[in-house]
Amino acid sequence: MRVTFLGAAGEVTGSSHLVETGRHRILLDCGMFQGGREEFRRNAAAFDFDPRRLDAVVLSHAHIDHCGRLPLLVRQGFEGPIHAHPATCELVAVMLEDAARLGVADIERRNRRRARQGLPPLAPLYGPADVERVLRLLRPLDYGTEREILPGIRVRLSDSGHILGAAIVELSASVDGAPRKLVFSGDIGPVGAPIMRDPTPVEDADLLLLESTYGDRLHRSRERTVAELGTIFDEAARERGMILIPAFAVGRTQEILYWLAEHHDAWGLGRWQVVLDSPMAARVIEVYGRHRALFDADGRRAWNGHRNPFEMPGFRLVEDQRDSMRWNDREGGAVIIAGSGMCNGGRIVHHLRHHLWRRTTHVVIPGYQAEGTLGRMLVDGASKVRIHGEPIVVRARIHTIGGLSAHADQRGLIDWCRHFRRLPPVWLVHGEDRARLALAEALRAQLGATVGLARPGLAVEVAAGS
Ligand SMILES: [Zn+2]
Repeated sequence: MRVTFLGAAGEVTGSSHLVETGRHRILLDCGMFQGGREEFRRNAAAFDFDPRRLDAVVLSHAHIDHCGRLPLLVRQGFEGPIHAHPATCELVAVMLEDAARLGVADIERRNRRRARQGLPPLAPLYGPADVERVLRLLRPLDYGTEREILPGIRVRLSDSGHILGAAIVELSASVDGAPRKLVFSGDIGPVGAPIMRDPTPVEDADLLLLESTYGDRLHRSRERTVAELGTIFDEAARERGMILIPAFAVGRTQEILYWLAEHHDAWGLGRWQVVLDSPMAARVIEVYGRHRALFDADGRRAWNGHRNPFEMPGFRLVEDQRDSMRWNDREGGAVIIAGSGMCNGGRIVHHLRHHLWRRTTHVVIPGYQAEGTLGRMLVDGASKVRIHGEPIVVRARIHTIGGLSAHADQRGLIDWCRHFRRLPPVWLVHGEDRARLALAEALRAQLGATVGLARPGLAVEVAAGS
């Protein structure tokens, strides 16, 4: 069994790894590269393998940097099954339809500019019909159930605690009569976060692909982070300002709303309108509601009780684009939660454009910001940014609150690795170099691990562990 790293190998987006067993080829994730123009070209480029010769896809979760290129895969001839948790299958439908819509809108805007420059128009990466073809290939697979996806190849998913339906993938195959097992961590969630359960321990593998997003960081505790959020509300209320929160529609949004509902009275939220500005939020809420059996005890209690964030007084769901624009001229009194989580598209970009120049605006950044994104520029302290070609001065206060991350920090990742009876060779994926170099060192020092850094195009053999 051999694994070739295709994406999220030295960066956090574009997750994709090809597993070959001699007779079969399986793709783990088929994620979109995210960032700027260069990433558009990488997404549009041909795959490094022939999609027609691929036998199956196994999906770790529904974030677009893990599933966003599936429509291109299908367009280029893939017709096999796509295995994923049932909640992931439902979320993939919402996410890909949204990505297709955003992609088409983005290309229309760029083409208007290209036409003025005398350049030929670009085609969108994919459209709704391509997404429809992907959805027909989805094969739901519950946590903890083993499925023989191809002769001699078995897959088992377990809860990775990252977002609804997110999975750790265990892939077992018999190669020339000898068993081999590959474990792909997917994105590992933090221990102790509300709503999502803690990541499931795995005890054995011959090779581990481990995410390393926050491999160089220790998150501030959730208690301190939540207290900090309260302070931001106090300040913004005194200044009569706005609070903007870029968040992925799936994952951070639900946890942020959970904390707002939990502290509704203490933070004086009665004076605020809490706006969830997302064309897909309602559908995501429905999927979460249908799968609430997957929540932890805190999440179930909140969802069933009076602290259901979606029934909080002052809560507003904004789906219509024109409704969303009504908030552009507001100076204060609203908390706007909108995607995308890295500010590289979606409605948050418009809100930032209209509010970054004000000193009374507070931008709360709860998630990871990849290199090249507008969110990363804000986190790195840019005093000016360009939004849709217009220079915007940044006077708003930018608060990075790592403690609400959907990813485990260095300690969390190492603790999860401790569950292996015998830690196999580890290949670090889904992390920028600074993060994974630090994690590699910590894994070697604390667990005596053999660690490699995945590079695009590099292939490694899954050898027997003993
Ligand atoms: Zn993710």
